[in-house]
Amino acid sequence: DKHSSHPERVVVDKLLGGLLAPGFDEESCISRYQSSLCRRISPHKPSSYLASKLRKYEELHKRCGPHTESYNRTLEELSSSHVNGTADCNYVVWTPANGLGNRIISTASSFLYALLTNRVLLVDLGTDMANVFCEPFPNTSWLLPMDFPLSNQFYGLRSGNAQSYGQLLKNNNMNISTVSQPPPFLYLYLSFNNDEYDKLFYKDQNQGFLQNVPWLILKSDQYFAPYLFLIPSFQQELDKLFPDKETVFHHLVRYLFHPSNQAWGLITRFYQSYLASADQRIGLQVRVFNRKASPIKVVLEQILGCFQKEKLLPQVDEEKHIAPPSKNRTSRAVTIASLYPEYYESIKNVYWMRPTVNGDVIGVYQPSHEEAQQFGNNIHNIKAWAEINILSLSDVLVTSSWSTFGYVAQGLGGLKPWILYVPTGGQSNDQPCPRAMSMEPCFHFPPNYYQNSSTRRRLDTVSPAPHIRQCEDASTGIKLV
Ligand code: GDP
Repeated sequence: DKHSSHPERVVVDKLLGGLLAPGFDEESCISRYQSSLCRRISPHKPSSYLASKLRKYEELHKRCGPHTESYNRTLEELSSSHVNGTADCNYVVWTPANGLGNRIISTASSFLYALLTNRVLLVDLGTDMANVFCEPFPNTSWLLPMDFPLSNQFYGLRSGNAQSYGQLLKNNNMNISTVSQPPPFLYLYLSFNNDEYDKLFYKDQNQGFLQNVPWLILKSDQYFAPYLFLIPSFQQELDKLFPDKETVFHHLVRYLFHPSNQAWGLITRFYQSYLASADQRIGLQVRVFNRKASPIKVVLEQILGCFQKEKLLPQVDEEKHIAPPSKNRTSRAVTIASLYPEYYESIKNVYWMRPTVNGDVIGVYQPSHEEAQQFGNNIHNIKAWAEINILSLSDVLVTSSWSTFGYVAQGLGGLKPWILYVPTGGQSNDQPCPRAMSMEPCFHFPPNYYQNSSTRRRLDTVSPAPHIRQCEDASTGIKLV
């Protein structure tokens, strides 16, 4: 599986099966057309309907993008108390919440919502995500202009905001038809801790009203895309866009998120040094949310138990000092992504002190150990983004339960990961890392409208649609399969 010896792959899969538009300036974003050099070829082709929808979207974005005539006209609406109907472009403004993984999955969901509702997606990347990504749409920008009038209110946006859609519904006894004049903007608060009023966004009967609001300012840290598949008025279009429901995020994330040249430098230098010549690449993400509840020793036992049970890495030979001579030794490169160094130190030591039972040569690497999640630091985010991408280059990927960081890696790579259950009870267990059903991220906190409330039937026995299941790692969550 040595991709580096096939230079023609670049030409063949440069546009990822029609997902990407040609014609971008290649130098300004080298990763856009070159990621296929390092990554496994995806067996999942986007539907031609999705490709043509994206080309149409790109036209729309170019026409409505920042500082265009249409943009300026729609901006003027913000200073009136209700919509005056002269605008020809509608927008979703995405604002950040939580870590990079959370941000990427919520942006992808927001973009899907924009596609379905004919809106233009603008993003507020602030300074801490500067230089992390390239522009996704040709000949325009997705960056919300710095002088956007409402920007200084985004930070404090939460449930109960007077200008939020939830609040509007609450004030009108949940009956949106009594609101005669749509406002020029509304906040959609869709983060994990949104309240019952915010969640009314997901009710199909409310979508028609939202169509008349030119500016929707959205804050979410969730992958809410699966729920869009449960809104009847979107279903037909979604079926055409994504005949294969498991590929939604795989396509959206590869379409939207290209590493900046600075991030691509980190990715390719790591790749060339440690991965390019390995026969097999194994990615291991160790995300420990609570270090006290999950002692290092127990997490390590769980990881080693995972390798053994799922046969992802060979055992070491406790009897011998030297592996028997062999002509064809398989070399495996294990890349560990974690905020902490201890898992790497120990696993590296396991494979340094003893030979493997079958003579395989195991290299163990960790790009960084940042110790703590940082906010407001773009270099920290560039490293995190580089590591997500490095994990996505794996042949075999082990992610950590509940981690959106891992979700993004699996989506980019088109990989069905083994999900490492990071134990919190002081003990490893005998199901350390079951295989995921699909490569889709989990929507951790969906509204539960789809559940039959009289019986409160559990999602693991009844699913609201054939392609929606309870997540493996979050019993409250749903995912596409
Ligand atoms: P989640 O919290 O695991 O769902 O993922 P997020 O990406 O939303 O938030 C975690 C943040 O912590 C990341 O964005 C990084 O800033 C940092 N982080 C967590 N794990 C790692 C890691 O393995 N490597 C690096 N470089 N940063 C990490």
